[in-house]
Amino acid sequence: MSIQGLDFDLHKARNLIDGELVDAIDGARYDSINPADGSVLGSVPRGKAADVDRAAAAAERAQPGWAGLTVPERAAYMRRLSAALRNHADSMLDIEVRDTGNTIGEMRHDIANAANQLEYYAGLGYELKGDTIPATPGNIHMTVRVPYGVVGKIVPFNHPLMFAAAKIAAPLAAGNTVVVKPAEQSPLSACYLAELCAAIFPPGVVNIVTGFGSEAGDAIVRHPRIKRIGFIGSVETGMLIQRRAAEVAIKQVSLELGGKNPMMVFPDADLDKAAAAAVRGMNFGWQGQSCGSTSRLFLHADIHDKVLADVVSRIQARKIGDPRDPTSEVGPINNKAQYEKVQRFVRVTLEEGGKLETGGRRPDQSDLPQSGYWWEPTVFSNMRPEMTLAQKEVFGPILAIFKWTDLDETIRIANSLEYGLTASVWSQNINTALTTARRIDSGCIWVNGVGTHFPAVPFGGRRNSGTGSEESFADLLSYTEEKAINILLG
Ligand code: NAD
Repeated sequence: MSIQGLDFDLHKARNLIDGELVDAIDGARYDSINPADGSVLGSVPRGKAADVDRAAAAAERAQPGWAGLTVPERAAYMRRLSAALRNHADSMLDIEVRDTGNTIGEMRHDIANAANQLEYYAGLGYELKGDTIPATPGNIHMTVRVPYGVVGKIVPFNHPLMFAAAKIAAPLAAGNTVVVKPAEQSPLSACYLAELCAAIFPPGVVNIVTGFGSEAGDAIVRHPRIKRIGFIGSVETGMLIQRRAAEVAIKQVSLELGGKNPMMVFPDADLDKAAAAAVRGMNFGWQGQSCGSTSRLFLHADIHDKVLADVVSRIQARKIGDPRDPTSEVGPINNKAQYEKVQRFVRVTLEEGGKLETGGRRPDQSDLPQSGYWWEPTVFSNMRPEMTLAQKEVFGPILAIFKWTDLDETIRIANSLEYGLTASVWSQNINTALTTARRIDSGCIWVNGVGTHFPAVPFGGRRNSGTGSEESFADLLSYTEEKAINILLG
């Protein structure tokens, strides 16, 4: 197949196993739903343990050959995929936007990000060096870095293509082969990616299996030949995966999990920029469905009312509409379960005494399909730390606003949850900003900024937000094991 002329049928999407585009072994398929109107958008194979087993066997066969390539040879394959993503960006975007409900303006960055990360890791391959260790004179001790072999990657529904394409970059650059499972709620772009990879990589190097978490996902986690798991998803599933993997073998499991991320605004902050950032940090372009969303906003009492009013008016000005329309700033929530979860949070927060500042309901707009999962961006103020919304990740468009006066107490509250993924601190005083950034126990902190991921800068969570860090050299190293070679000269 030529990757120039890709003729992709959404209703006949296939998996990639051993270089072949295939259906599930038992022929099972399931539908993927367009969240904008609830219609069937396409269908994908419902892979299960037998499909994962085929993929793992193919990956295992291909791995020595892949690891035996030179660094520039492996890099060349990865750069071809990066170029293909850029060439196919418009087709992929169209699928991705309809399958996720995320707005097109935002999703365009996802494809560029994935392409950039493939190029970044392709170039890093030479840096997988070992050491020589002067431990015992007369002998030579050295270390080499070796790939695990077959790596399983399991990714969530919010950025399906970016995660499927970008997260294979580090394992591949390190000489591993991969079995990837996208989320069941938005699997179609991964099947498009499968077609690109089929035309680019040697058979078995990249395998993509769609299906449910409890079936294909669990089969990856429990497969004896998959020694390294890279997981992105919820805390609950992350915990389950650690347990399930440990039942089968000793495995290396990295986990990028949820967040309930604090943003702290001091009275001396640039308040205009802080208000804009508080809105941007909620990632309403994909309905707040982002692990890094700064969904707990702590406003100092001196500036609380002013910034709150600014945040609310900026949020109300956002255009809710068809996610394919480049002017839309909010689309539908990705799936029914998520939609109902958002509604539950609104109900409970009202019961617990939260003050609804805006949103909290379906938009009253005749241009939106009645059947889609539409919800207005929602803001609650009057938040107290013991409230459910103050403690639990929604993974949806709800911002919780707290008023603060005592710094120590506020930092204690910021650090009091199980999560520790991102945080944002706003002050024009560098001492205040840095001291606070160091005291907040999160893996990624922005000072006078929010949301942006920077190439080569590690991203990862503390506490139950995960283990391991991605998007960086450390990520590449984490797909290798260190091996010692002792040469006894005497
Ligand atoms: P999820 O945990 O429900 O699912 C994630 C993936 O795990 C999916 O592919 C799913 O099919 C699979 N899965 C589910 N059960 C499984 C099992 N028993 N065994 C193996 N695989 C299984 O998460 P989600 O709802 O898709 O995504 C939302 C969550 O992901 C949020 O908590 C969000 O914060 C988190 N997330 C984290 C990051 C990060 O980088 N830290 C990025 C994006 C999303």
